Amino acid sequence: MQETKSTCPYCGVGCGVIIESDGARITGVRGDPDHPANAGRLCTKGSTLHLTATESVTRRERLMVPQMRSTPEAPWQPVTWAQAIDTVAKRFCDTVKQHGPDSVGFYISGQLLTEDYYVFNKLAKGLVGTNNVDTNSRLCMSSAVMGYKQSLGADAPPACYDDLNHADCVFIAGANPAWAHPVLYRRLEDARRANPALKTIVVDPRRTETADDAQLHLAIQPGTDVMLFHGMLHAMIWENWIDQRFVDAHTEGFAALKALVRDTPPRVAAAKCGVELSALLQAAQWFSQSPRTVSLYCQGLNQSSSGTAKNTALLNLHLATGQIGRVGAGPLSLTGQPNAMGGREVGGMATLLSGHRDLANAEHRAEVARLWGVDDVPAKPGKTAVDMFEAAARGDIKALWIACTNPAQSMPDQTLVRAALARCELVVLQECFAHTATSNHAHVLLPSSTWGEKEGTVTNSERCISRVRRAVPAPGEARDDWRIVVDVARAMETRLRQPSVAGSQTTTAHASAHASTRPTLFPYESPESIWMEHRESTRGRDLDITGMSYRLLEDVGPQPWPMPEGATRGRQRLYEDGRFVTPSGRARFVAHAFQAPKDVRNASFPIALTTSRLRDQWHGMTRTGTVTRLFAHEEGPWLRMSPHDLPRRGLASGDLVTVRSRRGAVVIPLKADDRVAGGQADLAMHWGSERMSGLGVNALTTSASCPDSRQPELKHAAVTVEKAKLPWRLSAATWLDVDVDQASTMQAALQALARAWLPKLDYAACVPVAGRQGRQGWRWDAASAEPFDPTLLADLTQAMDLHGPGVAQYVDARRHRTRRLALLGQGADARLRGLLVAGRTVEGPNARREAGEASEGAWLVELWRSEGDVAPFGRVLLSPDAQAPTGLRAKAAQVCNCFDVSQPDIEAVLRQVEGSAALRVAAVQGALRCGTQCGSCLPTLRRLEQSVSFAPASASATQAPADAPQRIRA
Ligand code: SF4
Repeated sequence: MQETKSTCPYCGVGCGVIIESDGARITGVRGDPDHPANAGRLCTKGSTLHLTATESVTRRERLMVPQMRSTPEAPWQPVTWAQAIDTVAKRFCDTVKQHGPDSVGFYISGQLLTEDYYVFNKLAKGLVGTNNVDTNSRLCMSSAVMGYKQSLGADAPPACYDDLNHADCVFIAGANPAWAHPVLYRRLEDARRANPALKTIVVDPRRTETADDAQLHLAIQPGTDVMLFHGMLHAMIWENWIDQRFVDAHTEGFAALKALVRDTPPRVAAAKCGVELSALLQAAQWFSQSPRTVSLYCQGLNQSSSGTAKNTALLNLHLATGQIGRVGAGPLSLTGQPNAMGGREVGGMATLLSGHRDLANAEHRAEVARLWGVDDVPAKPGKTAVDMFEAAARGDIKALWIACTNPAQSMPDQTLVRAALARCELVVLQECFAHTATSNHAHVLLPSSTWGEKEGTVTNSERCISRVRRAVPAPGEARDDWRIVVDVARAMETRLRQPSVAGSQTTTAHASAHASTRPTLFPYESPESIWMEHRESTRGRDLDITGMSYRLLEDVGPQPWPMPEGATRGRQRLYEDGRFVTPSGRARFVAHAFQAPKDVRNASFPIALTTSRLRDQWHGMTRTGTVTRLFAHEEGPWLRMSPHDLPRRGLASGDLVTVRSRRGAVVIPLKADDRVAGGQADLAMHWGSERMSGLGVNALTTSASCPDSRQPELKHAAVTVEKAKLPWRLSAATWLDVDVDQASTMQAALQALARAWLPKLDYAACVPVAGRQGRQGWRWDAASAEPFDPTLLADLTQAMDLHGPGVAQYVDARRHRTRRLALLGQGADARLRGLLVAGRTVEGPNARREAGEASEGAWLVELWRSEGDVAPFGRVLLSPDAQAPTGLRAKAAQVCNCFDVSQPDIEAVLRQVEGSAALRVAAVQGALRCGTQCGSCLPTLRRLEQSVSFAPASASATQAPADAPQRIRA
């Protein structure tokens, strides 16, 4: 077995991993005990990374060879790399020659490595001569970038993870690290254990698991963060809780801000935010009066039409109270992507330039041009993500190169995005996975390597640069991202050197000047050679890394920037000397007035929709969606609303509802959830058109953006929710109780079926299902206004193997009722391997008399899901009019992914354990092992401990696990 140190490719915590392999295949993964971000820990996502690289996943999901087609409707044709590179280079050059450099765009990703980013940026700005290069980090971090730049002078998070160990107060705003940054949250839990006096304040419209653990939860109305922070600052000034010495010595602009917040007294702010005045004042006091305060914040502040204002308003609090530049004090933005920071370092965005330089600064552009060996770098700002797709929809951008991201899932206002992709003359998609929603719109597919297969560096949320390393070769003909870019760039250089044709725009100044002086702008033969050039671009800048090398990162370990030449370590904390990266050296108070979210709620759209993250999924699920067990915690798409809101809207938990915004609609099941406040709804951001009908969550969201950061307001949309009138229902499911190869073939067939049918159905969702002892299954649910097309039923029957001997069936063609049951085993051991139930559901007074197959058969899906014996149900199984038998319990949601422990398992143990909270949690851990491995379920475990009392009599009635302790006393 070989072991290779690398980095997790999911969130911005940037955990170190050790990849286990046999040299050809990845066989396991574990946390790197020497990595400073995680010290050996991994969350559910990181600890299952190896399952995304199995042979069957690779065979089923990966893009292996370059492919091309003339239109998105035509079948794909495999081509050689030479053909693909030549075609992309020629068509991009032809477009540039005919329509100018700004007629092309590059939409790249915070999941690319720094080296990949660097060459994309140089290709666009240095060779083509356009700043139209932006990244999905625009959807994630650009408000944090602008916040830091406006307030502190540079895009540099001042604090580090270690500050949690020294803080007395942790202020968490617009973030749910218990689910989205779990390993960092484990560090906060450790800090609480070590310092029980540590206070945690959470600002979030939802009562998240992070909020459960806090001493103070401010459940503000969505989008009112600036109002809250201004109210807190007003209180701090009034109560003389500010650090006047720090303000006088190290800041500027306080008078203007003071004048602004004078109009926001705490009482007004609290009313506008929908929180108690006392809670706001308490937050202000703890933030300012604690000796050391750290803030953690993420998309709740960033994904907003006033994202920069939210960031600067929070930074104002740090500056006013001197809670910055000290051990245990400072703001720390959490990045959603593994290398959003690296992209910012190389300036790989439409509004940035290499080494934290400014596009608007002529001297900065000249420095970069000198470094690259071109005449200049274009001054005109490029199109940011939303602008780029709007330009494509208008026909201004004609060729798009998309790399390592899935805009047909993740961009807001999907109707516009799909129109943009459809209008582009050329869409090139560079991807490692074969079936993303964006691939449906592409003309060229370029297969790239991915985690475990590529080399380079990434930078995490605390500015720490880590090596990413190859453990195994990429499958098929997939190539490294940097290699693909360099090959196409060299082919483009050749074309852009051609002599001018009279009367036509043949080339850019950059390329023609370069052509006569150097053989290539892209002389790289390894990621390290690219990184060395990037390193040089940082010399003398705030992020100077000239003291680092690949060798040092491997031998000494990951290092934070800056680390200039001669330094032996990177710098953990910034601004400890009180000097900031502004012309005056002083930090700036920024006075942005409060602005409400752009998508206004009114009588037609009365509900505030927020988008959120699930604990065990990441972004569009392209990678996590390949691991069946990661679906166990949340088995499908749900809209969540307060139970108090449902009756007056004529809704009930479990209804299928239509959620409609000003831009589009989705049909989705509804779940009552008392964690969501009245007048609000919550939908996880992961669900796209690969898993459900329609255009996914982002059919609803708005592309309204922050004017400074251009980050769209993905966190808020005004919607209406109505019951969907879709009486025809279908459920089909199967366990894949066959060998690995057959299971993979069945999964591939089911995924192909989803791609073919999801776009045609009023509602459908198709998800993997995790059963007991690692069993894998698939489930389809659909609804329709009309009886289902018999071809769909036939396709599902075939794909789920619900035909032939061993399958019992009941079919009433006239009434469109179908029931197919595939049994496994015999007699008392028999259970449902698969089923298909389709028919009409009837509600209201006649429901009992007219109930159709869908109403009657719903219990069969629960029987399948519970993996229970079918023997007790006998003839009822095929009786079309039978109602659900009593005593059949729905499968409970999983809490612990590592050891497959459900909520009832935990509750049963807790009822038998008496004593302190710590002892009861320890007893559950001892009995069931949950919370002893990755720790992602610990917040739930603590919450259950609070809600389930010692009650031994009832415990015996609920069948505690056999190995549960009978009774424990403190
Ligand atoms: Fe990966 Fe989880 Fe660490 Fe994030 S917290 S980097 S997802 S292991």
